[in-house]
Amino acid sequence: MNMKEYIEEAEASLLHTYNRYQIVLDKGDGVYLYDMEGKKYLDFVAGIAVFALGYNNKEYNDAVKGQIDKLIHTSNYYYNVPAIEAAKKIKKASGMDRVFFTNSGAEAMEGAIKAARKYAYLKDGTTDHEIIAMNHSFHGRTMGALAVTGNPKYREAFEPLIGNVKFAELNDFDSVLSQVTDKTCAIIMEPVQGEGGLLPATEEFLKKVRALCDEKDILLIFDEVQCGMGRTGYMYAWQRYQVKPDIMTSAKALGCGIPMGAFMMTEEVAQKSLTSGDHGTTYGGNPLATAASAKVFDLFEDLKVIENVREVAPYLTKRLDEFVAKYDCITERRGVGFMQGLVFDRPVGDIITKALEKGLLLINAGTNIIRFVPPLIITKENIDDMAAILEECI
Ligand SMILES: *Cc1c(COP(=O)(O)O)cnc(C)c1O
Repeated sequence: MNMKEYIEEAEASLLHTYNRYQIVLDKGDGVYLYDMEGKKYLDFVAGIAVFALGYNNKEYNDAVKGQIDKLIHTSNYYYNVPAIEAAKKIKKASGMDRVFFTNSGAEAMEGAIKAARKYAYLKDGTTDHEIIAMNHSFHGRTMGALAVTGNPKYREAFEPLIGNVKFAELNDFDSVLSQVTDKTCAIIMEPVQGEGGLLPATEEFLKKVRALCDEKDILLIFDEVQCGMGRTGYMYAWQRYQVKPDIMTSAKALGCGIPMGAFMMTEEVAQKSLTSGDHGTTYGGNPLATAASAKVFDLFEDLKVIENVREVAPYLTKRLDEFVAKYDCITERRGVGFMQGLVFDRPVGDIITKALEKGLLLINAGTNIIRFVPPLIITKENIDDMAAILEECI
């Protein structure tokens, strides 16, 4: 079958939850992807902030292959070495004390929400606790994660979701304060909003929210599914602000392609929340996924990934700022590190489609923003190549 026939086949079988671009991707190497006709694409999407190390990294592939031959899956009722190693590494990288492995970001959010509710339940013996989340946030598509996602368009048709969720505005401390009651058990946010528009929290805002949480014994939950794993130039974004959450989620680049997520917490929260029988997963933390993730942490060090983000991301910022200065239709650059966006005064779909024709993969965030979440190993040359194609498309 040729590419067009495969696409027709896909449209006849897959549920229509995505408007897919009209290419069938076949293989990847470094920062490039190839479709089944052999056309090459410079990839500034990275599977949406997943493939931090780029495609076809030999060491990563060998680690995954080696684990396949050894042991792919076993129940969480037994220990396995890759999970123990991955746990140690994620603890060190995140500054958290205890971890629960999941298969996705949404599932990590579900666990974080359950942990917060259990903590509050053990504290006062009541239920009906409230959560404050942020407008324009994105936390995933399952019912709990959706309930704290600040985009009514995603939520509406599926209500009622889990109850007692209130929304506040990122970087507006008073809007958070005005939603706090005796029943508030958690405040959930992305330190840098991804899907909602590449908006970073301010340090001042995070520090005030942290102090509020300390004062009222409310748990601060950071969703670092997208902004974690080096994307901001820090292993986890909280380290950039020095505002540490009580519970944190991670996914996307955590497995660099093997489905993998995690929620983590401090020892203090762990002692007073989820316990034996409260939570589980069949696949989560299986040897294949955790072997991949353990290798990812090693390769972050070997390849000096964080150093590369710190060195090269300012160049991305510079090039994007040039676009803002040059084009009236671009109103703003947003974001940090390798998690940035250009805000247009009109929908960006046509530009993204044109870029794809010219061999550059980009993705939107909302209708008016082009999002740049490339592999974290990109070079200044890759950025110049991207900028040259983008220029032609605008
Ligand atoms: C992608 C994303 C999620 C959901 O992760 P899935 O693996 O798609 O379930 C949650 N939070 C943030 C911030 C994300 O970017």
